[in-house]
Amino acid sequence: MPNFARNFMETTKSAALFETAKKYFPGGVNSPVRAFRSVGGNPLFIEKGKGAHIWDADGNEYIDFCCSWGPLILGHANDKVLNAVDKTMRNGTSFGAPTQLENNLAELILSNNRFIEMIRFVSSGTEAVMSAIRLARGFTGRNKILKFEGCYHGHVDSLLVKAGSGLVTFGNSSSAGVPASFVNETITVPLNNTDAVTAAFEEFKNEIACVIIEPIPANNGLLLQSKAFLEFLRDMCTANKTLLIFDEVISGFRMGFCGAAGHYNIQPDIVTYGKIIGGGFPVGAYGASKQIMSNISPLGNVYQAGTLSGNPVAMTAGIAQLSECLKPGFYEELETKTKYLVDGITKLNPVKNFKIFHLGSIFWIAFTGRESISNAEEIEAESMSQFKRLYHSLLQSGVYLGPSGYEVGFISEAHSYEDLDKTILAFEKSLNKLV
Ligand SMILES: *Cc1c(COP(=O)(O)O)cnc(C)c1O
Repeated sequence: MPNFARNFMETTKSAALFETAKKYFPGGVNSPVRAFRSVGGNPLFIEKGKGAHIWDADGNEYIDFCCSWGPLILGHANDKVLNAVDKTMRNGTSFGAPTQLENNLAELILSNNRFIEMIRFVSSGTEAVMSAIRLARGFTGRNKILKFEGCYHGHVDSLLVKAGSGLVTFGNSSSAGVPASFVNETITVPLNNTDAVTAAFEEFKNEIACVIIEPIPANNGLLLQSKAFLEFLRDMCTANKTLLIFDEVISGFRMGFCGAAGHYNIQPDIVTYGKIIGGGFPVGAYGASKQIMSNISPLGNVYQAGTLSGNPVAMTAGIAQLSECLKPGFYEELETKTKYLVDGITKLNPVKNFKIFHLGSIFWIAFTGRESISNAEEIEAESMSQFKRLYHSLLQSGVYLGPSGYEVGFISEAHSYEDLDKTILAFEKSLNKLV
């Protein structure tokens, strides 16, 4: 029997592994948020996962709502994905030549997505976004791009830019090593603010190649935008011959098969995908109309390539996972479960300002007096100390969330109502401790 009600959680093996990892990797990790810096303490080293559950190196079991940051919409070690991958793998893992599996995944996606006509597979979300930006610049012959404070688009140079002080600013790079000349091509404005966008288009008339947005911003809290704002962006882009890029690396195949574009019924010019598309393997993609995609080499003169692009094993995992997503009722069931969890926790209501925002199968825990939060400025940095305490208490009760109060949680097909009930109980215990 899994033991979720631990009073004392042994994590000495994880701690020892972290000490060793620190000798090998900067900060002991291969991606910064994994280091647990924002919640404090040592990261847990994960040994295995099955369904909605994961086990750490010390044998502690958790119900997992991080789901590898979103990709695992079927949960861990899904049998259909594993069996398909096993079969493909035995015929070789990479050829650097076309395989039918690429056609199959493309057909599965394109025949069920009315927003794009052609696609190109890459190996990560970052790569997808980087390529989409280059495509937009190549297509329009313009250099500047417009992004929003509070959206994350991977670690692309020109997108590691945060807002400066004004409404429309070139801002500052949010990472060392990004040349100021790159930053000067990136305009950053607040989310859900039509005035700022209008001002940017006035100031940089005929200079903006693309507007890039997470239509459902889910990397800095869940900053839901009004449909009217997204429609406004569509209209502004059309009027200014600027391309609208929906970065759907999180929302793609999560907010329904057609992602946020389908949810809001708004036609972007380029869409980027990642996370779910690879069934737990490293896959990204960008897609658009035939007209726009024809600018990519070897058809056109925008260069983009990849040794492991369209990797057969990763394609297979993507096909297996997305085939499940296409089954009738799949997304409705995820949403029903998410509501069940959110309602169950919200009803507890023991701590002032505790909120859970959610959409589809994405949820975000926040401590705020506001009824809604739609831009980065509305998140109170001080509220993170409460999240930190809640986080560790939930771990003790067997619930694993992404280790930062700015990260969202995900419900997978594998989460059972029993898991959700246990999670609600864990929240009850942990929230009571916060009072
Ligand atoms: C995760 C994410 C990325 C980056 O994808 P990686 O696979 O981590 O490179 C880009 N954009 C959005 C919206 C994401 O959520």
